Amino acid sequence: MSNLDRKPAPTACGREADTGPVRDLLTGRQVPLGESTVVRRLLPNLGRRMVGAWCFVDHYGPDDIADEPGMQVPPHPHTGLQTVSWLHQGEVLHRDSLGSLQTVRPRELGLMTSGRAISHSEESPRPHARFLHGAQLWVAIPDAHRHTAPAFEHHADLPVVTARGLHGTVILGTLDTATSPGTAYTPLVGADLTLTEGADLRLPLVPDFEYAVLAMSGGVDVDGVPVEPGSLLYLGCGRRELPLLARTDAAVLLLGGEPFEERIVMWWNFIGRSTEEIARARTDWETGSRFGTVHGYAGARLPAPELPATPLKPRGRER
Ligand code: MN
Repeated sequence: MSNLDRKPAPTACGREADTGPVRDLLTGRQVPLGESTVVRRLLPNLGRRMVGAWCFVDHYGPDDIADEPGMQVPPHPHTGLQTVSWLHQGEVLHRDSLGSLQTVRPRELGLMTSGRAISHSEESPRPHARFLHGAQLWVAIPDAHRHTAPAFEHHADLPVVTARGLHGTVILGTLDTATSPGTAYTPLVGADLTLTEGADLRLPLVPDFEYAVLAMSGGVDVDGVPVEPGSLLYLGCGRRELPLLARTDAAVLLLGGEPFEERIVMWWNFIGRSTEEIARARTDWETGSRFGTVHGYAGARLPAPELPATPLKPRGRER
């Protein structure tokens, strides 16, 4: 046998043909989270489901929660993924079925690996800071590791990358020469970049990663494109550097990684590989098996929604 394809698809950065540098601006969809928080969902988005192994991106706030309960997400299950809690303002109290009880503060990493099964709750503690602003991110775990034991990590002291006008904190994976202590299962990066007004720089990238930038605050041009807070600019692959220009003091999250080529089924809080697997996870949550118990949350746990009548389709990184 021989490969007779005269235009073989690039393999260095994904199998799909359209994987060079692009600039696709994605706006968020408003989604209620629990009873008192509304988030902007950037991933999955129409036509763009993943950036590397990053498969879920919510941006919330800044919200004035001085006289509000703030975030109140009751106990719910996860499988096949990691969750990253990342704050710019406020704090979130994390509880999980391993017995973890951890307050996560701005620019500290709360990293939960569901592996085969975990459940957790997230709430604004009482009392809490006036403003809540952050991002909730999920990372898909590849098939070879997705049945691993559940774990929770809290890293308050993360590595830093600096340049003139830039203070970068590496959340997960590697940026330039700095690597986060958080456990990662695929080559990727998540980094928090704080830019001072007038900063004009080129951030070093890896050409075989795909990237996106989520604007958190301020005014910033990413490769010449103004990105408003709460929007995500997808950048594609094949870049060695990324031009960033801060029109005001600003903060963005850089998300990237090797394109995730496995097709996954993502439904509610589960990632699996088939409808049957998702249905089993749902039944296990509803019957109180596999996912353990979250202690101390003042309220009932979240019931699972009904499965759709049509089978769930395994999907790739695009549509
Ligand atoms: Mn969760």
